[in-house]
Amino acid sequence: MNRVTQTTLRKSRSIDRIIQGIATSDGAGVKLTRVLTGKLQQRLDPFLMLDAFGSDNPDDYIGGFPDHPHRGFETVTYMLAGRMRHRDSAGHEGLLESGGVQWMTAGRGVIHSEIPEQNDGVMEGFQLWLNLPAKRKMTEAWYRDFPGTAIPEYVTEENVTVRVIAGASNGVAGVITREDTEPLYLDIHLPAGAGFSTGIPDTHNAFIYVYRGAVKVAGTPVESQRMGILSNSPEAGGVTLTATENARLILIAGKPLHEPIVQYGPFVMNTQEEIHRALDDFSNGRLA
Ligand code: FE
Repeated sequence: MNRVTQTTLRKSRSIDRIIQGIATSDGAGVKLTRVLTGKLQQRLDPFLMLDAFGSDNPDDYIGGFPDHPHRGFETVTYMLAGRMRHRDSAGHEGLLESGGVQWMTAGRGVIHSEIPEQNDGVMEGFQLWLNLPAKRKMTEAWYRDFPGTAIPEYVTEENVTVRVIAGASNGVAGVITREDTEPLYLDIHLPAGAGFSTGIPDTHNAFIYVYRGAVKVAGTPVESQRMGILSNSPEAGGVTLTATENARLILIAGKPLHEPIVQYGPFVMNTQEEIHRALDDFSNGRLA
């Protein structure tokens, strides 16, 4: 295991807002919690959506997400538990398993399915939508599966375990880097009482989502199943968390694009006209 000495921050970003997700369902009746909704797209630019799913009842997930299109952004699926089979219009196929990440750049278009490959047990994870800049919205579709063993991990002197999915934290680089949005995506496991610090670029919008236990950030508690939007404090340099009990959370940050966002379901473009073109391309078999 990679041991690191974590950065010491002069000051931590604080919590701007606590968000409770909205229970909904998508695909073929998959029950999920929409944590990052349309209303937060400006505040959390370049992120468009975050869904948390987690259930041990197959009725909540078994239908999966049959064939559907995407255009104009990237999807990042992180499985904590369970197995999901992915197939797309470009002929890619992969099995996403516990601890693994699937990174897909929909670009100009992809039609894909995401179907659970289990009939019982726990299915748990997250899907994040990351915007593409205008100049890359019509790029060729791209996708890759990273098994859990491929995700870099480190442990701090306080026994905090950190998995680095994207970006870099305390000198450890993740499996994905993106030049326009520079995403940081960490899965952080803290034993009760432990503290943890990581740098976050001053330019970035950032949030945490606690999925086990509870933490405090600059004195503000963030409970399980809550998102804490981090303040944009240029003098902070990053964030310091303290676990008030054994805790697990994801920390996500990215550089805002400051471009217009026009979304119609699975299409996210810059103008209404581009949305009409996406719908037209989709209905005429030109999307992917
Ligand atoms: Fe999808």
